[in-house]
Amino acid sequence: MRSLDSIPRLRLAHLPTPLERLDRLAHRIAGPAIWAKRDDATGLGLGGNKVRKLEFLLAEALAQGATTVVTVGGVQSNHARQTAAAAARLGLHCELVLPRVGMHGGELHERNGNVLLDQLFGARVHIVADAVAAGSAMGEIRARVAREGGTLAFVPAGGSTPTGSLGYVAAALEFADQARAAGFKPTAIVLAASTGGTLAGLVVGLRAAGLEVPVLGIMVYEPAAQVGPVIARLIDQTAERLGLDREGWEGRYELLDGYLGPGYGAPTPGMIAALRLVAESEGLLLDPVYTGKAMAGLLDLIERRRFGSGDSVVFWHTGGAPGLFAYADALAGGADS
Ligand SMILES: *Cc1c(COP(=O)(O)O)cnc(C)c1O
Repeated sequence: MRSLDSIPRLRLAHLPTPLERLDRLAHRIAGPAIWAKRDDATGLGLGGNKVRKLEFLLAEALAQGATTVVTVGGVQSNHARQTAAAAARLGLHCELVLPRVGMHGGELHERNGNVLLDQLFGARVHIVADAVAAGSAMGEIRARVAREGGTLAFVPAGGSTPTGSLGYVAAALEFADQARAAGFKPTAIVLAASTGGTLAGLVVGLRAAGLEVPVLGIMVYEPAAQVGPVIARLIDQTAERLGLDREGWEGRYELLDGYLGPGYGAPTPGMIAALRLVAESEGLLLDPVYTGKAMAGLLDLIERRRFGSGDSVVFWHTGGAPGLFAYADALAGGADS
């Protein structure tokens, strides 16, 4: 493998993130050992998985002389929030184009949670109706930045490019060391998958680390039929970047439908139950859009005996808790009210 150290990278995240056992949760559900890889605790701007991707993406942007970074995402995009925080940290201007997709947070959706933090980080927030309006907003930004003599770096939704995925190749290497030091062989890694760069990078990095462990992606944005080919391409391109074997990825990951519910960002009973269970048993916060649904998936797999009591399953916590504050109406009261 080409050494990751030879690829430009900024240091933005608090690393390594902790790898913790969730014993009280495991006890409550009488299942396998459950470990949490705490990428909600990457630090910058309340953390999350995008900080790892931005270490590589923004290194590339700075090398190209960028003065302004622009990205897109839903109104409650965690990726947009982490990009805004990273831009502030690096002294870059930040423009966020946020189409109204997955609007399930009621009237809080456009003023609390991630979007509130975007504004605090000094980003220019453009909330637009749909993808078409996002395209024209992007065009206006491009023209304005050019007029003002700046240089624009565009970061695609979710930071899911081969460059962004390198953050998760590095994360897999970090995890492999931690698992070895903790003395356990993971049975599977479970995580939320939306634009797929996190999963793609992990799959490539685990193979590079010589760790044979399947990665199970719980689809939370679009079904596997849509995202599957995108992920396969990302894996191929990321492997190519690193000079790794581009064949033989079958069986190393699986994309699981069935936990998305009515759509991206739409609360499901399983998500709410999982979120409350983990909060109550571990003092650990999941989020309504990604990790809550991923945990609902993991709990369902355990219930259906996919894992036995001798297994060690890793829940890769990708962050997102700032989004809770936009979903107060859906989450308030909850199970016993
Ligand atoms: C973006 C995000 C994901 C999904 O990561 P992808 O690389 O887009 O698949 C998962 N969890 C949280 C909290 C996120 O913000």
